[in-house]
Amino acid sequence: MQDKILDISRRRGITYPSFEIYGGIAGFYDYGPVGKRIKENIENLIREFYVIDEGFMEVECPILSPEDVWAASGHLENFADLMTECKKCGAPYRADHLIGRHIGKEVEGLGIKELEEIMEREKIRCPKCGGELDRIYSYNLMFESFVGPGRDKKTAYLRPETAQTTYLAFRRLWEIGRKRLPLGVLQIGRSFRNEISPRQGIIRLREFNQAEIQVFVDPERKDTNEFGTVSKTKVRILDKNDRESNMSLADAVEGEIIKSRLIAYHLERALRLFETMGINTRKLNLRQHTDEERAFYSTDTWDVEFRSGEFGRVELVGISDRTSYDLKAHQNLSGESMEVNLEGRRFIPHVIEIAYGIDRSLYCILESCYVEDDRGAYFKFPKRIAPYQAAVFPLVNKDGIPEKAEEVFKRLKQARIFSLYDRSGTIGRRYARADEIGTPFSITIDYDTLNDGTVTVRERDSRKQERVKIGELVNRLFLNFNF
Ligand SMILES: [Zn+2]
Repeated sequence: MQDKILDISRRRGITYPSFEIYGGIAGFYDYGPVGKRIKENIENLIREFYVIDEGFMEVECPILSPEDVWAASGHLENFADLMTECKKCGAPYRADHLIGRHIGKEVEGLGIKELEEIMEREKIRCPKCGGELDRIYSYNLMFESFVGPGRDKKTAYLRPETAQTTYLAFRRLWEIGRKRLPLGVLQIGRSFRNEISPRQGIIRLREFNQAEIQVFVDPERKDTNEFGTVSKTKVRILDKNDRESNMSLADAVEGEIIKSRLIAYHLERALRLFETMGINTRKLNLRQHTDEERAFYSTDTWDVEFRSGEFGRVELVGISDRTSYDLKAHQNLSGESMEVNLEGRRFIPHVIEIAYGIDRSLYCILESCYVEDDRGAYFKFPKRIAPYQAAVFPLVNKDGIPEKAEEVFKRLKQARIFSLYDRSGTIGRRYARADEIGTPFSITIDYDTLNDGTVTVRERDSRKQERVKIGELVNRLFLNFNF
């Protein structure tokens, strides 16, 4: 299945490796014309959920930021993997992965000295050539760059997450948001991680797309009045001790598995968002971070995972209580106060972060919507995700039919409906092409159209056909949207 998804993906312009004519670089992918439309649709759904439904604000910050930002956040010191290289063939390895695989035990979190001791004791060599491995060192995953020339030249880094850049303007956002909590801020944009050897297509990229929401809250009120609307939702949970269970969100909060009603509420919103995107919810579960993997400042962290046929467990969103750690860190280094005054109490707000991976979501949509049947392979995208809403076909290229078809196509364009015009090959072939990229409606203009002003509308999934008056077409297509 993966091969066929990749084949359609490259051939039809969903995603394909970047810089192909120069041999490509691992971890960089282009969005082609079809993939770009899908990605826009994903981002717009996220906006609807958070900006419209939750009343959050959206911002956009630079991707390149000065060293201070990453010194304060801790990334300069801690955003690193422990590495070793083969002295003979030069192959690089993540030391903890290599050692962990060799001894069949998790060693994440051990220091350089401890890992080197195990490496020596177990006589671990290069898996590729059997060569000796070099000393272990810390490899920072941020891309380094410089701003300006000469004496004023400053070190800067491509951001490894959008979150920090959102925090920097907290004072302004507090004022703009009229000094109220909770205050939610969404940022959609690119982030960068100089991964050691990314090999999982768009699941692990060096330049990737995130949608990160920072919900600034009163530490004494990590709650929401909306919890009642989601409390009965049943979820599959993997807790921090790797115990799996099915329970309602109400029971998960009651049993103190999920630490706050606010986190539980946002986990449900994320599940609902993925469902709206077309991701198979039967393959989703909530997973709590273990005490070892959770950041030291976080009191509770959860992922929503997708069980991919190809890549195993894929983390689609992380929801984390980051406490006041980040705002405090920026207050300390910048000297600017991040305190707010709310009803006579002065405090630094806490942050609940909701961090979506957009590229990963897109992959999981492809895997969830992929169908093979008697007509071949195609994607059953929800209408909200489909790159084009309709394809318009003239039955033949003569007798005034192309002119009529172009008139219909123009109506769709004027109604701001993304659609395609396809005049080449048999009708069957054109249906297949439209289906392949998940187009919900195919519209054929034939000889009857010239007589009675109706066209044939064929629905992708049921393949049902009906005659629709040209004048009613736009309304019919829009009504089908369930807005
Ligand atoms: Zn080697």
